[in-house]
Amino acid sequence: MDLYEYQGKELFRRAGIPVSDGRLATTAAEARAAAEELGGPVVVKAQVLTGGRGKAGGIKLAASPEEAEARAEEILGLDIRGHVVRKLWIEKASDIAKEYYLSVTFDRGAKQSLFMFTTQGGVDIEEVAASSPDALVKLHVDPFEGFQPWHARALVYGDGVDDPDEQKQISAIAGRLYSAFVDQDAMLCEINPLIVTPAGEVKALDSKFTVDDNALFRHPDVAEMRDPEAYPPEERAAREKGVTYVKLDGEVGILGNGAGLVMSTLDVIVLVGGSPANFCDLGGGGDAQGVVDALEIITGDPQVKSILFNIFGGITRCDEVARGILQALGKMQIPHPIVVRLDGTNAEEGRRLLEEAAPPNLHVEPTMLDAARRAVELAA
Ligand code: GDP
Ligand code: MN
Repeated sequence: MDLYEYQGKELFRRAGIPVSDGRLATTAAEARAAAEELGGPVVVKAQVLTGGRGKAGGIKLAASPEEAEARAEEILGLDIRGHVVRKLWIEKASDIAKEYYLSVTFDRGAKQSLFMFTTQGGVDIEEVAASSPDALVKLHVDPFEGFQPWHARALVYGDGVDDPDEQKQISAIAGRLYSAFVDQDAMLCEINPLIVTPAGEVKALDSKFTVDDNALFRHPDVAEMRDPEAYPPEERAAREKGVTYVKLDGEVGILGNGAGLVMSTLDVIVLVGGSPANFCDLGGGGDAQGVVDALEIITGDPQVKSILFNIFGGITRCDEVARGILQALGKMQIPHPIVVRLDGTNAEEGRRLLEEAAPPNLHVEPTMLDAARRAVELAA
């Protein structure tokens, strides 16, 4: 789960990482009131679950409460890469002398946390990694060893921070960022930019904080930060029904059982010249209700033009899935063509059931490739 900047900063603040004082606002009037309360110049920041807000016009300075109100007016409702701005973070403006970058992520390959630090912050870290890889310090932390003073030294000396005061502050922030990362079961804690003010104070000016969904049960306070309105309605419905659902950009809705099969189905759709609109993973399920739920979610996406069922029967029996499909078609009106490929346990029986019932918009295909071709054809 991704947190908004203001939520990530709240977790930073609790971990002892310096952040600026700020207020949340959902209207221009609230933005003005927040600026009045904070006093002095403020920065009006769009709260959306995507990066690059600055470039998209979602971050603006305001010298007075009146200006804050005007900037808020401009930013509210703005569409930043598909995310409509409904919330603003009004923060005391900072003077910036330098912009650095500091993050901790989880490096699955190395089975360790990975720190990244560069004094060339403020821009996309991918840009720094591409244009000046030497300027990016990467450092693993062994989970059994934890964050040690030598890690901090390797980070600050590694990128040539020579001011002792800065070294001290960055070292402390790195240690606290590591604690926040571990304590919150995070997958990413990123500060970009980590600024140095003209007075020499180091603080987090932005926050990107991603926590592991699977660990949320241990963090009820963080779980509460989820904003259901940040997700499209079908994603919300999927979460409520416990269905794995991912939205994509194309026109074929995909239903499969098991992550591996679903991933290969996406590949095959692309291979035959199509593009997936979304996918649902029925997992080990596939009973009638599971199929109905998944179909409801998939067809809730207006981009879907055809639906592809790709089922490999193991524990899930194909005849049961076939019954589920027929029951679903009996219960709900589905205008889209549905292509079904069944293989594995009781596949013959499943196919026979579908062919006997022969609903007009249902097409049974013998192989995954044939099914993908058909689904893409029908979506055109
Ligand atoms: P992002 O574009 O989504 O990464 O949003 P950031 O929070 O990182 O802000 C983008 C840029 O806006 C920063 O790199 C800063 O240059 C600028 N910015 C943000 N807050 C302030 C501030 O308080 N004062 C000044 N002068 N610039 C700011
Ligand atoms: Mn940023």
